[in-house]
Amino acid sequence: MKKIAILGSTGSIGTQTLEVVRENQDMQVLGLSAGRNIDRLEAQIREFRPKLAAVWDMQAAKELSIKIQDTNTQVVSGMEGLLALAAMPETEVLVTAIVGMIGIKPTIAAIRAGKDIALANKETLVTAGHLIMPLAKEYHIQILPVDSEHSAIFQCLQGECRETLSRILLTASGGPFRGYTQRELAHVTVEDALRHPNWSMGQKITVDSATLVNKGLEVMEAKWLFDVEPKQITVVIQPQSIIHSMIEFIDGGILAQMGTPDMKLPIQYALSYPHRRSLPGKRLDFSQLTSLTFQAPDMETFQGLPLAIDALKTGGSMPTVFNAANEKAVAKFLHREIRFLDIYDIIAEAMARHQKIPSPELSEILAIEEETGQWIESRW
Ligand code: NAD
Ligand code: MG
Repeated sequence: MKKIAILGSTGSIGTQTLEVVRENQDMQVLGLSAGRNIDRLEAQIREFRPKLAAVWDMQAAKELSIKIQDTNTQVVSGMEGLLALAAMPETEVLVTAIVGMIGIKPTIAAIRAGKDIALANKETLVTAGHLIMPLAKEYHIQILPVDSEHSAIFQCLQGECRETLSRILLTASGGPFRGYTQRELAHVTVEDALRHPNWSMGQKITVDSATLVNKGLEVMEAKWLFDVEPKQITVVIQPQSIIHSMIEFIDGGILAQMGTPDMKLPIQYALSYPHRRSLPGKRLDFSQLTSLTFQAPDMETFQGLPLAIDALKTGGSMPTVFNAANEKAVAKFLHREIRFLDIYDIIAEAMARHQKIPSPELSEILAIEEETGQWIESRW
């Protein structure tokens, strides 16, 4: 029996993880958690009967414990609750399906408790990869990628000798605004940004896909997961989202992982690794597929990507500033307090004013997040 806890079970990745668990008799969920959506969490608790449910919001946690009095699930709350869920003695793996840097502490707690990590929460690696990766090594745990591109790379690397990897070709759909000019981007709305052509995801990552910040975060995620230099990662626009990423070897050979866009595949692969299992769903039909197209990303218009590459090359605490500024800016955009292109200005200004700390400790990372957020609040 594979015993699992899910950080962020009510979101897009969380609910799809539960769909995978439902289809696999030998997987069991012992911990669920949410920010404040206790209605969905209650339904999940009644179906999966976990030992522990963590709710961030204290009031919502109280309401939930009254609602589920008739069950054996214990409710915990706040960061303490997330840490308890991450380190539950009975589990083997933590699925990090939470959004944002809030995932850092629970991920560290889970590693220290010897859990493998099925990692969707890329913001944690982007900001604390220099702490997480060595810790994973020290505790002999596996970090299994759930992000579709990184799962694709991971799948292509199976059976290969790591030293023969020459380059990662990280694919991107280009998002809903592919082909737009800067002028056109100036007027896009929240609704426009939330209309992703190929994937149905949480709001934050959907906006990140529209700005190409998501691809920037994924470049940094790839650096940590696969220990490559920034120059070894090339972003390729593949609008149909059929090639999920590719790797090039030192002999010029390229392997690609393809399929219809379905996050259940990378989720299930991470949970059943090293084995591959049956997964129902739509199959790629090459007789219906008229074309697979490719483009270079428009780095002039979609500044999310070059800003991320800058942050990665600068290193140290700069990726934390990039990510924290983006989290704050996207929240403001979703609240209609700023315009789409302001997201880039906010990130660029936050990075310009930051004095890099070469290898920030956890407390410094969290302090930078806080300070960046406060500065944006006072300035925008
Ligand atoms: P989402 O917004 O749909 O879900 C987020 C989950 O986190 C929800 O369950 C929410 O309740 C929970 N959460 C938020 N704040 C919390 C808090 N303070 N305490 C406890 N729980 C909290 O997001 P998503 O699209 O599922 O994305 C989750 C992560 O996975 C992100 O890092 C994203 O970049 C990554 N990811 C998502 C997809 C996708 O297809 N959705 C693909 C690749 C990577
Ligand atoms: Mg992705």
